[in-house]
Formats: sequence, structure tokens, C-alpha cells
Amino acid sequence: MPSTLPQIQHLIDGQLIAGGSRSADVFNPATGQAEKRVLLADKLTVEQAIASAQLAFPAWRNTPPLKRARVMSNLKVLLEANAEAICALVTAEHGKVLSDSMGELQRGIENVEYASYAPELLKGEHCKNVGPGIDSWSEFQALGVTAGITPFNFPVMVPLWMWPMAVACGNTFVLKPSERDPSSTLLVAQLAQQAGLPPGVLNVVHGDKEAVDTLLTDPRVKAISFVGSTPIAEYIYSTGCSQGKRVQALGGAKNHAVVMPDADIANAVSALMGAAYGSCGERCMAIPLVVAVGDATADAVVAGLQVEIAKMQVGPGTNATCDMGPLVTKPHFEKVKGYVDQGVKEGATLVVDGRGVSVPGHEAGYFLGACLFDNVKPGMVIYQEEIFGPVLGVVRVKTLQEAMDLIDAHEYGNGTCIFTRDGEAARYFSDNIQVGMVGVNVPLPVPVAYHSFGGWKRSLFGDLHAYGPDAMRFYTKRKTITQRWPSAGVREGAVFSFPSSR
Ligand code: NAD
Repeated sequence: MPSTLPQIQHLIDGQLIAGGSRSADVFNPATGQAEKRVLLADKLTVEQAIASAQLAFPAWRNTPPLKRARVMSNLKVLLEANAEAICALVTAEHGKVLSDSMGELQRGIENVEYASYAPELLKGEHCKNVGPGIDSWSEFQALGVTAGITPFNFPVMVPLWMWPMAVACGNTFVLKPSERDPSSTLLVAQLAQQAGLPPGVLNVVHGDKEAVDTLLTDPRVKAISFVGSTPIAEYIYSTGCSQGKRVQALGGAKNHAVVMPDADIANAVSALMGAAYGSCGERCMAIPLVVAVGDATADAVVAGLQVEIAKMQVGPGTNATCDMGPLVTKPHFEKVKGYVDQGVKEGATLVVDGRGVSVPGHEAGYFLGACLFDNVKPGMVIYQEEIFGPVLGVVRVKTLQEAMDLIDAHEYGNGTCIFTRDGEAARYFSDNIQVGMVGVNVPLPVPVAYHSFGGWKRSLFGDLHAYGPDAMRFYTKRKTITQRWPSAGVREGAVFSFPSSR
């Protein structure tokens, strides 16, 4: 029987259209009910989006940068005016609490603001008289059709890391959001049209592997930005590069927070609560591991966390008194719960067990309470793997160096932080740790929009980080022009030596 659920369509050439014979349910994780169906684009539909972006490129590339930037300024205003509607969609499909959705949107808006400065970033470099009567300059030209593939956990912010700067630099874009919570991403793209983006400059295709593979292999797509899990990031990077594309692929994480014996433990515990359990642990910058230096530190941190967890309220994200909503889907809920079972089997001490949580009136929702393990050890699956849920593990070590060796040995290097009052220790840590984003008494050191975001090791494949100044470089290619206007009537002889200013 055909589904009667509202259908989420693609946005191609400025129009909402159907495309592809397959579709998937989109669930409200707080109720466990399917509320919409999202169309899954086939190859032909994605090719239609690429063709639209290709057609829109010449005129958009030649639009003055200031006019392109004005669309971003208009979009900022529209995003602020529609914040409630956007965040309601995020919470309905992702599950995060509304205040968290608002925080995500605000960070996204800051990327739109930064993209509106693109004319300043695109000014290039100019030198007069690099040789006698010779001037030279470098300019940053748009690539053409660019594409983005985004994860479920930030359906508004992560797409805004990508396409605003790409289009502000004169490119056109095809976006493939997560099929698990696509509505808010689509609404933002529609607002961008309202803000003045011409048809075809930004297209949204919903879908899965078939859509992604089409973007990866179509020669008209010049660059791909990806954010998601490491196995897929690695696949996107190797396939995209083998097709001659520029690729940046941000992957998964397992971020460690070091707590030193001299830290302000009460404040460190408060910071860890938000970093571990905010957004149900579904953040690539979440803290799923605490490395406590010394047993007394570990005992104090575990005791403090237990007290705070007991005060936490778990429930639907629409309830303003809730701190933590549900996990995104039933399979993800089962997976995270399986990790807790695994941790118990491996011999870690389960200090707080959130597996029995039930939310009255929402019994079919994907709610898992906060879980806390003590005595987690390297080599355990719950230490090594990204769980992406409300599961925090405490590892006990004796020295800062031991903590740093553990972090450096881990395959991921996205974020980390240290809690201490010792400036020397903090400086040594931030200077030497093999991780891309470091916090000192800051649990979630997510760079602001005018810096760039990216991890090290298997948390990022590619050379340039996401958003900020790196984004302008990623979405443009440098051209260097050297120019000379010889004086009329002056006869010049041939020169056979290599041109230089010797
Ligand atoms: P995911 O890798 O499952 O999906 C990401 C995107 O890839 C989605 O659009 C999805 O449709 C597509 N995809 C999934 N399987 C594919 C396949 N086999 N072939 C081609 N495309 C495929 O990630 P997710 O579960 O949506 O998001 C969570 C992950 O994203 C976590 O690992 C998290 O750490 C990571 N993440 C990283 C960052 C970062 O900046 N490093 C930021 C946010 C999320």
C-alpha cells in the first residue's frame, strides 16, 4: 500500500520535485513513529541536479562577489526570523533538545555571516614591478559544480559549513543531506532561494549510496566536502580522489578529556556533563572518555558525575525542562545499548546504568539514560570505538605523559581538552598532543566560524579543514597572472636565459 505520510522532495533548479522510485521513513525518535517519507534519488535525479548546477555556474561565477555576499546577508536575517520553525524540525527528526537545536542553528548562522565576507577573502594578492614594468597577481577562481554530503547529527550546521562559502566564492552546489533527518536542511535551502539565490546555484538531493556514488563519479563535480563516519569518509576520499576531484572528508572521533589533580573538579564535572551527554553524545566533538590523572582525581570525578547524572532529566526534546533527548533511530539506539552490554562483559565498572530508562508517554521513543563506566582500559571495545551515544568512560592513569601517550596512540584525533590550573602543563599538552582541536578548560573546543574546523589522524582525510579561511581555499583554485605592457615602438631582442630579476 502506498504511504500516506508527507513526502520530502528534492530541490532541483529552484523547484521541489520527485525523483527516484525508492523512499525511506523519517522517524520522530521521541515517539518512535514514522512521520514522513524521504525520496531517495536515483542516478538520473542526481544527474539532473548536477546539470542544473552546471547550467547555473557561468552566470553565478560572473555575478559580482558583493551581490553574491548580499544573498548571505539576506539569508542570515531569514534564518533568524525562521529559527523556531527550523529548530522544531531538527528536534522532531534528530531528537536533540530545542535549546541545543538553537545552539546548532546559531553556529550555522555564524558560518553564513563569515561567507558574507567572501569578497574580502577573494581579493587575492597583487605585486607591482616583480620585474621591470611587470606586474603580477594571484586570484582565486571558482571551481564549478561542488558537492556536499552531510551527517545526521547537525542537519543545519554542517551543511552551512559547506555551501554558503562555496556559493559565495562563485561555485554552484549539490547537497546530499542525511536521509535520517532531512527536513531542516531542505528548509534552510528554500530560505536561501528566498534570500536571492538563483535557481540551480544550490540543489538538494536526498538519498543514500546511489546518490553519493553518482556525485563521486560524475566528472562535472569538481570538489566534494564530506562529514560523517570514518569508514565512509575514507571511501569518499579514496573514490573522489581517484576520479580527479578535490576532496575533504571529515570522519569520526573519540575525544579524551584529561583531568589533572589540580583541576577545579566541580567545574570540570559540570563541563564534562554537557560534553558527554549533550545531544545524547551524538557530536563528533563530544567527550566520551575522561582520563583522570591519579586515583584521587578519578574518585572525585566519578563521584561528582554520579551526583550530576542523578539530576539529569531525559525526555522529548520539545520539553524545555529536559537535558537530553532520545537517540536518533532505533538501530542506533540498539547499537549504543549493545556497547554498554559489551563494556560490562569486558570488565569495566558500570557506575550508572541508563539502559532501563523509560519516559512516560514516550515508551516507544529511543531513550537511553546517561551511562557512566569507571576503570575503562585501552584495548576494550568501548575505549577504542566511537559509540556516539550517552556513554562516558573514565580511564585511570598516573601521569600527564601517560594520558598524552594514550591520546596519541588512538586512531582518532578530532578534539581533546585538559582541565588544570597549571599553565605549564596546559601549554605542554596543547603544544604536543596529536589532535587537531584542543581545549584548555574548554570541553568542546569547536572553532568559531572565522577559524577552521578539522581533526588529525583518521578524523580527517584531505589537506584543508572545514569552514573558516580553509573553506575559501578549498572552494577556489589559484590563478597567477603576470602582465607587461611593452612601450610602443621599442624593439626588444630575444632572451634565452630563464627570466629572473638577477
Ligand atoms: P554516516 O557516515 O553514516 O553518513 C554520513 C553521510 O554519508 C550521509 O549523508 C549518508 O547518507 C552517507 N552514507 C552513509 N553510508 C554511505 C555509503 N555506504 N556510501 C556512500 N554514502 C553513505 O554518518 P552519520 O551516522 O550520519 O553521522 C555520524 C558520524 O559523523 C559520526 O561518526 C561522527 O563522528 C561523524 N561526524 C564527524 C564530524 C566531523 O567534523 N569530524 C562532524 C559531525 C559528525
